[in-house]
Amino acid sequence: MSTAASSFAKPIAGELYLAGRQQASDAPMSAVVARRVVQRRQMHAVQAVSYLLGASTLLVYSYAGTISIVIPSVYFLCGLTAIGFFSVLSETNVSDRFEDHYLTVFQVGAHVAIQLGFLLAAPKIGFAFICVLFLIFGFGALRMTSRQATTTWTLAIIGLVPVFLFSDLPVGMPVGTQTERLAAMLCFVLIIGQCAFVGLFGSTLRKMLYRRSIELKEAYKRIEELAELDELTGASNRRCIMRMLDEEIGRARRTGASCSIALIDLDWFKRVNDAHGHPTGDEVLRTFAITMFANIRPIDRFGRYGGEEFLLILPDAPPHSACRMLERLRAIIADLDWSAFSPGMRVTISAGVATLRADDNPDAFLARADSALYTAKAQGRNRIASA
Ligand code: GH3
Ligand code: MG
Ligand code: MG
Repeated sequence: MSTAASSFAKPIAGELYLAGRQQASDAPMSAVVARRVVQRRQMHAVQAVSYLLGASTLLVYSYAGTISIVIPSVYFLCGLTAIGFFSVLSETNVSDRFEDHYLTVFQVGAHVAIQLGFLLAAPKIGFAFICVLFLIFGFGALRMTSRQATTTWTLAIIGLVPVFLFSDLPVGMPVGTQTERLAAMLCFVLIIGQCAFVGLFGSTLRKMLYRRSIELKEAYKRIEELAELDELTGASNRRCIMRMLDEEIGRARRTGASCSIALIDLDWFKRVNDAHGHPTGDEVLRTFAITMFANIRPIDRFGRYGGEEFLLILPDAPPHSACRMLERLRAIIADLDWSAFSPGMRVTISAGVATLRADDNPDAFLARADSALYTAKAQGRNRIASA
């Protein structure tokens, strides 16, 4: 027999609750609500078809003379009434006020009640209705919490126990005649088909969740990367380079290796902006950063300290090799052909180099590099000074 429970499938596939919440904060609310209404409409349409199929199977039993024609008709009407009720809640957006806008628990409750009602009304073909309970719970459980599933299961037990233990209703599935055999077969064929559908749906859901989790991980990684990068230059931002400084100081302390830093400042950069405009200044900063990245070691860390001032961390670099590296970088920048920005343009840098001392904290370390930078500027710029 077909079941209204199958209708729970589509909406779950279309929208997971978590994703729905996520999307709700991103997409305009009205668009989310409109999409949900459409999904619920599809769900109700599938439910109606399910009841139609179920009622058709019951008609075969009625044709066989096992049950009255009233049973399939009323079964269909009951199904339609329940669907109609939830459709009204859906179309008036009452459903959207609930965390689970499909109202799964209520729907499961209503459709279980219908099956139990017909189990009492037509116990002779009771197993047909009992089979439907499997499907209702199979689909419903995909959306319910374990507590909700337990609650609805308990209610189903409360309905089933009196039927089996406190009554002598002849619950069965007659196969006495050829037509009854056909009806029973149809009933089982539909149930098996829908069970397979539940299984397939579950695996689709699992795959979709797996895919989403990978997408989320990638997005999260990207967000983390972006949160650590300076938008203009692509270098690490200040927060990130300061964290790296802490890490490198810690590492140098643990390993006993030397660690140097250089505070690098572009010379007369205000003039670049004034003469060529701020956008050109931005391009110069970008080109400077790219050139730096192309010429530092993979273990070096480079970040924007603020404005046109950058911090270069040089792990495993004693003072003399740090100064040599900075001298090389200074020459590369000074020799770069900047004429693409403006004919005759020159860009130079000054840097203050400091090497970690035993009693240094990050602030003291940076202060020494800053004072060396001040010296480099005072000595005429386009030079490296060491603390
Ligand atoms: P000095 O050699 O003493 O460092 O001179 P300077 O002109 O470079 O120093 P100053 O601190 O007077 O000017 C720095 C300029 O850098 C001023 C500011 O507008 C510019 N600047 C800071 N951040 C940016 C940026 O993101 N883009 C651009 N285009 N300019 C920036
Ligand atoms: Mg400057
Ligand atoms: Mg500056």
